[in-house]
Order: sequence, then C-alpha cells, then structure tokens
Amino acid sequence: MSEQRNAEAFSESIDACIVRGFLADRKAMFKNLARQGLSRGVVLERARQLGLTEQFLKKCAVGTPAVALRDCLGCGERFLSVGFQNRLCSRCRSKT
Ligand SMILES: [Zn+2]
Repeated sequence: MSEQRNAEAFSESIDACIVRGFLADRKAMFKNLARQGLSRGVVLERARQLGLTEQFLKKCAVGTPAVALRDCLGCGERFLSVGFQNRLCSRCRSKT
C-alpha cells in the first residue's frame, strides 16, 4: 500500500487547512487532518506539491506576501501563489 494520493483526493478546504497550518499551528493541523484519515506523510507530501517549502515558509516569516491557493494557468493544478501576478505553479515556471 502506498501513501500516494491523487491531487483530486484533496479538497480545496483541506488544501487551505494545510496552508493555514503551515503558516500558523502546524501541530494542530496535523492532528485535525489525522482525524480525517490523512497521515502526516500524506500531508507533508501534499504540502510539498502545493509549494510549501522551507524556503517559502522563511519568506513568509520575513513579511507575509499575499498568499493564496490558485489554479495554475499552465496545468490547472492548485498551488500556493504569492501575489496576484503569480499564476504558474513551480513546475510550470521551471519549464519556461
Ligand atoms: Zn502548473
């Protein structure tokens, strides 16, 4: 059994919960999602997919930019966008 899940398994509210958790109370977020059947490993993997890297979190600690979950204009995947001009996920950005 693999812990891999399709991105479709993550509702927008779960993604938002993960983002809020990383920016605020990570422990409470893991607990909350564990109750919904999402293990820590699954949540961490999803966080990485969304672009919640340590580098990103450091940037947020310095001065929170306008962070929002948006659909990538390139592939349609939901990702963590910083500022309204940021409309491509990191995967699509590195392709260009
Ligand atoms: Zn993309």
